[in-house]
Amino acid sequence: MSTTAEALRSAEAHSAHNYHPLPVVVATAEGAWMTDVEGRRFLDMLAGYSALNFGHGNRRLLDAAKAQLERVTLTSRAFHHDRFADFCSELAALCGKEMVLPMNTGAEAVETAVKTARKWGYEVKGVPDGQAKIVVAANNFHGRTTTIVSFSTDHEARDHYGPYTPGFEIVPYGDLTALAAAVTANTVAVLLEPIQGEAGVLVPPAGYLQGVRELTRERNVLFMADEIQSGLGRTGKTFACEHEDVVPDVYILGKALGGGVVPVSAVVADRDVLGVFRPGEHGSTFGGNPLACAVALEVIAMLRSGEHQQHAAELGDHLHRELNLLVGGGAVTAVRGRGLWAGVDIDPAHGTGREISERLMERGVLVKDTHGATIRIAPPLVISKEDLDWGLDQLREVLAAG
Ligand SMILES: *Cc1c(COP(=O)(O)O)cnc(C)c1O
Repeated sequence: MSTTAEALRSAEAHSAHNYHPLPVVVATAEGAWMTDVEGRRFLDMLAGYSALNFGHGNRRLLDAAKAQLERVTLTSRAFHHDRFADFCSELAALCGKEMVLPMNTGAEAVETAVKTARKWGYEVKGVPDGQAKIVVAANNFHGRTTTIVSFSTDHEARDHYGPYTPGFEIVPYGDLTALAAAVTANTVAVLLEPIQGEAGVLVPPAGYLQGVRELTRERNVLFMADEIQSGLGRTGKTFACEHEDVVPDVYILGKALGGGVVPVSAVVADRDVLGVFRPGEHGSTFGGNPLACAVALEVIAMLRSGEHQQHAAELGDHLHRELNLLVGGGAVTAVRGRGLWAGVDIDPAHGTGREISERLMERGVLVKDTHGATIRIAPPLVISKEDLDWGLDQLREVLAAG
C-alpha cells in the first residue's frame, strides 16, 4: 500500500491520461462511504455513475458473488450454465419483455442494440441492405466505441477517432418536430437516453418520451431507451421511461445491473425484435457468465421489492427540494434531475465544476463535474437521509465560501 502522493505519482507515470480523477486514493468502501489510503472518509455522491446504486460492499450482492465464485465463474456461451436461464427470465420479467441478450459493458450493449436495430430493419421491416438509419439526440452519451463516438456531438469524445461509422442522424434532444422530420422510410430506430446523464442530467420536456413512443409506433421504428445510467432505481422508478408511462421496444441496461461488483449489461426486448439473431451472428466470451448472472439475479431480486425505488423517490424529493432552495441564491443557476440524481449548474463566478468538486473533496464529499459548470449528484440509493443532509451541508458551505 502506498501513500496518496506515491499512488498519484505512479498513476501519472504509468497510466494513460484518459481520465482526470480527483486526487483521492480509495482503499476500502462500505455503503455510501469510501475510505482512502490515509484513513480519511468520504461520502460517495457519484456512485460509480450509477453502477453502485446498491452501495459499496452490499451484503446481499457480496454473498451472491462469493457463493458463485466457489461454484463456477465462466463457461463461455459454448455451454449452458445453471444461472443463465434464471437470469434471462428474471430480467425479461423485470422489464416486461420476452428476451434478453447479455453483454458486459454499457458500450457493448449499445453496440448490440445498434446491430439489433439494423438486422431488424433489414430482415423484418424490409429496409434495403446497407441503408438503415438510426436517429439519435445531440449531446448524447452512449459509450466510447468507434461506432458510438461516430454519433457523439462531444468533440473530446469524438475528435481524431475517424473514419466514423455512417448511418446515424442527430437531432436536438427534446425536439419532437425535429425528430419527426428526421425519421424516413429507412429509419430503423430512435436511440435515446430518457434523461441525458453525461450532458448534465437533462430531463426532456414533459410529453417528449410519450411523443417519441407514438411517433416510433406510427412509423414502424424501434424506440431504444438507453437506461444504462437512468435505469434500475436511480430516478425513483425501475426505469426513467416510467415517469411518462412509456414502454420502449428495447431497453439497454448496464451499470447497476452488475451491482458494482462485475460488469453486466444487456439488451432486453420482445421476440419479434431480439428473435432476429441466429447462432454465430453475435456474441461475447464473458457475456452472461455465471458470476455476472448470479450477481445480477440478486440485483433483480432487490429491485423486485420496490424498496430501493421508493427510497430513491422519497429521498430524491428531499434532495431536489433542498437543491432548488439554492437556485438564485448566487452560486447555483439551475438544478435538474429526478430521484437521487441531480445536475447542479454553478455560476462560473463561484468556480468551475472541477473547483467545486475539489473543495467538496476537502470536506469529505466526492462528486464529479461534467461539461465545465455542472456538478452531478448521484449517491448510492442506499444512502441515509442523515448522510445526504450532511453532504448537502458541505455543498452549501462550499458555495457560501466561494
Ligand atoms: C455509462 C454509460 C454508457 C457506457 O457504459 P460503459 O459500461 O462505460 O461502456 C452508455 N450509456 C449511458 C447512458 C451511460 O451512462
